[in-house]
Amino acid sequence: MTWTDERVEIVTKLWSEGLTASAIGRRIGVTKNAIVGKVHRLGLAARQSPIRKPVAEPVVEPEPVVELTGPPCHWPIGEPDKNDFRYCGKAALADKPYCPEHDKRAYIRQVPRRGVNAA
Ligand SMILES: [Zn+2]
Repeated sequence: MTWTDERVEIVTKLWSEGLTASAIGRRIGVTKNAIVGKVHRLGLAARQSPIRKPVAEPVVEPEPVVELTGPPCHWPIGEPDKNDFRYCGKAALADKPYCPEHDKRAYIRQVPRRGVNAA
């Protein structure tokens, strides 16, 4: 009896589906003890009894998905010659110098004004 990747995958899947160790063992032809030992070594969390499962789990609303991987926002705040001048410093959008809020403002500010006489 060797633990092939396939068997490990099956055990992991069936265990997460709530099958008993002996049922999983029958499925792949190993002993219940082998399953219990494997599950333990895999670090699969001990399953909660369905009876003890909390009725209402706290629902965490997901944050709006905004990719914030860039360097800190470079939007200047205040007047450059004043003491309180600083940069925004919030997480910036990927590939943008500004955070989402300031990126919008930068976009409005930088509406292209091409030469009216350009051919
Ligand atoms: Zn900003």
